[in-house]
Amino acid sequence: MSQKGEFIYLSPPHMGGREQHFVQQAFDQNWITTAGANVNGFEQELASYTGVPAAAALASGTAALHLALLALGVGPGDEVLCSTFTFVASTNPIRYVGATPVLIESEATTWNLCPKALEAALQDRHKKGRIPKALMLVHLYGMPSRMKEIQELAQHYGVPIIEDAAEALGSRYHGRLLGTFGELGVFSFNGNKIITTSGGGALVSSDPTLVEQARWLAMQAKDDLPYYHHTTMGYNYRMSNISAGIGRGQLEVLEERVRQRRKVFANYQELLQEVTELEWHAEPEGFFSNRWLSCFTIKKGSSMTPEVLRQHLLTANIESRPLWQPMHRQPLYQSCDYFGDYVSDDLFARGLCLPSGSSLTPSDQERIADTIKKAFQG
Ligand SMILES: *Cc1c(COP(=O)(O)O)cnc(C)c1O
Repeated sequence: MSQKGEFIYLSPPHMGGREQHFVQQAFDQNWITTAGANVNGFEQELASYTGVPAAAALASGTAALHLALLALGVGPGDEVLCSTFTFVASTNPIRYVGATPVLIESEATTWNLCPKALEAALQDRHKKGRIPKALMLVHLYGMPSRMKEIQELAQHYGVPIIEDAAEALGSRYHGRLLGTFGELGVFSFNGNKIITTSGGGALVSSDPTLVEQARWLAMQAKDDLPYYHHTTMGYNYRMSNISAGIGRGQLEVLEERVRQRRKVFANYQELLQEVTELEWHAEPEGFFSNRWLSCFTIKKGSSMTPEVLRQHLLTANIESRPLWQPMHRQPLYQSCDYFGDYVSDDLFARGLCLPSGSSLTPSDQERIADTIKKAFQG
């Protein structure tokens, strides 16, 4: 072991203990495929956890977002409003279906969609007589968006919401789980998310017919005949029975993982109290974040930058990561229409994510905090 200590990753997988039991069952029954007891069990358990009538277990969160757009009938020529401050997997599926993203800025407290910017976009499109086909709403780093204001606007203009809750499984807005507010909600079980299936995603809805349709599209959209007959173009997007076995074990410890990640965030705030240049990602009254990643911005006017701090941490064998670069700055999406006042550019310039895994030890956290304190002392 080097003197620096073991490498600390940003958000490594954290098994609960019963995953291998479910995977072993799949082996015992020889259901090593995209069907079987684990896929059905995982879907039922996820639906029951989130309190919706149906869930579809899929190959990835990105696939789930793609199917959510198709389930709402979004297609070529349509516009879809989308949070600009996000990971590219929120926006790409809009292009997969031939639609055009319209990027909406965040607000400075939650870092999520700004209701004022959303209203400006909706008023503009209303005036032009072309109401967007959907709103892709992202809850970043586990923080809930301002649901009341956003839902009121979406309802007023008749725009269905797809919640990209890939980072927000287990987060709540006034007690209600994220992913259950929109027409459709999407979760990711990628290796770095709060729970993982090694790779996977899910789609939930209060409307079971939308979930059923997505599941059908995820299995090549085979018509109901004894032979292979196809009238609709489908996809191979179903989760495997092996992955779903891992997911069943992970779901059993989800609430514990939320508590652990929230504790990691609280510990950072306490350990780094004296570094007054740090502004921690705020959690307003009634908002409950799973704290997927512990993030902060560095106060304006500080001589420290996130990149210099990231290099200090890396030298000490600690991984950290800049906040997402907004979509309106991506070569892929910079030509899209945009509504807002560039809040996310400022967040991107000043923000950093720290190691946030639920398996992080107190001594790991002290090592990280000490490295940050030394960096700020110069
Ligand atoms: C991870 C993530 C996705 C994509 O999920 P995958 O399972 O990796 O395809 C989508 N949106 C956001 C905001 C994410 O963080």
